[in-house]
Amino acid sequence: MPCVGSVHRKIRKRSKQPIAEQQAIHWFRQDLRLADNPALSAAADWGQVLPVYILDEVNAGPWAPGAASRCWLHHSLLALNTSLGGHLQVFAGDPRTILIELIETHQISAVFWNRCYEPWHTERDADIKQSLQQADVHAESHNGSLLWEPWQALKADGTPYRVFTPYFKNCRAASNQPREPLGLPDLKCLGQRTDETDIAALALLPEVRWDQGLLADWSVGEEAANTVLAKFLRERIKGYASARDIPAAEGVSRLSPHLHFGEISPNTAWHAALRAGDNSDVDRFVTQLGWRDFSHLQLYHFPELPDQCLQDKFEKFPWWSESEHLEHWQQGQTGYPIVDAGMRELWQTGYMHNRVRMIVASFLVKNLLVDWRVGARWFWDCLVDADLANNSASWQWVAGCGADAAPYFRIFNPVTQGEKFDADGAYTRQYVPELSQLPDKYLHRPYDAPDDVLQAANVKLGVNYPRPIVDLKTTRQRALDALASTKTD
Ligand code: FAD
Repeated sequence: MPCVGSVHRKIRKRSKQPIAEQQAIHWFRQDLRLADNPALSAAADWGQVLPVYILDEVNAGPWAPGAASRCWLHHSLLALNTSLGGHLQVFAGDPRTILIELIETHQISAVFWNRCYEPWHTERDADIKQSLQQADVHAESHNGSLLWEPWQALKADGTPYRVFTPYFKNCRAASNQPREPLGLPDLKCLGQRTDETDIAALALLPEVRWDQGLLADWSVGEEAANTVLAKFLRERIKGYASARDIPAAEGVSRLSPHLHFGEISPNTAWHAALRAGDNSDVDRFVTQLGWRDFSHLQLYHFPELPDQCLQDKFEKFPWWSESEHLEHWQQGQTGYPIVDAGMRELWQTGYMHNRVRMIVASFLVKNLLVDWRVGARWFWDCLVDADLANNSASWQWVAGCGADAAPYFRIFNPVTQGEKFDADGAYTRQYVPELSQLPDKYLHRPYDAPDDVLQAANVKLGVNYPRPIVDLKTTRQRALDALASTKTD
């Protein structure tokens, strides 16, 4: 990997050009949109813009996009290229090298980008910024992804918040409102035209095209993101506070992959929601956007978040990194219908409803006693909205080891969760069709159904639907004993 200053050594010092001829790179990363893109607007003000995307698997290490995210990214780049009139320049490799070549070839005097907060991103970007500045290339980064910068929202003693409620209260103080979204920049693009084959050359799509099924229910790109937000605010924000917990209700926005890839900014969602009304539903929705920022704050201030428990005592917890049951969980074959429905939704659509994410995660880390990092890794590969901050913070929340986590002893019971949040079984029946004929009474615990009921519903336990892989009561006690062991050591 090139060391600090490598860009500096290779770029000749810029000769000052008249303002009218200035040429800038806008380096797209997790901001795949034109509207409300602060760095892109600043680049457009600078002069002609070379829009660039670099797939950097060199510096990302284990956090390069997973398989589902790669599919989304492919389509998002296609959409962005269309919005840019075909001018998006796409590359794969180390941005340190690629930026140098572009600066030389196109007589670039400035590079603009929106900040990312993953530890590997911040380290690399700081290095690049310093090198560009030393070479007299103007380097400018902006906030295009968060409502509040992680270093803006600190406690009175200057340390980062570890608890969401006071954090969010502080953020929402009148003097601290997120900025209003910017409009479209007046762009004059440089560079040759790109077409689908250039983006296909990044090889983001799988060789066996399973992605077509995965993305069948999604529309990707900035235009789609704005349509999703508008439709949500028009049709579903009313009742969001309660419907957001019902997986079958279509009560949530499904904006998460659009927000992750920056096809829409949180500021756009925030202000559009507030314009839609002043009530508890809107309040709940913008609070979720606040959780997204809070996860990023945690990742920024505690870069060990993806790999280490934020509460030290949990590092002694006897989690297993392997389990004979892991595959059953991954494949949605645990014998607990709501868990299986969630895991199959994930596999088929690249998404899982938030309530069900909590249920399946709790089942893995508590009933199966598997390390939360194993679950987080599976989600990383399968989710189209896989996001290092949200995924790591949420897994630590469920596992009870995070900064502001659910207490470990709160162990979700997948049967009662199913009966409460999927009472009519609409969600479970969609993803576990082999149980679709079972009456509601037994849908979430088919193993309790009398033989004649099973027979009438054409369910053969152990044949076309598994018997439970573990007993809930015993494994709950085992989890509590494991917790107790961390206290007595
Ligand atoms: P909505 O309810 O419409 O919420 C709007 C937006 O707020 C979301 O798009 C998301 O950006 C943000 N948001 C909502 N809930 C949360 C939350 N709990 N934490 C942080 N931000 C939130 N979200 C991801 O974006 N990427 C992940 O990789 C991810 N992994 C998760 C893993 C686990 C184990 C759990 C329990 C949750 C995870 N979440 C993750 C959070 C949450 O489940 C999703 O953001 C949400 O389900 C997305 O659906 P939506 O856009 O319809 O949400």
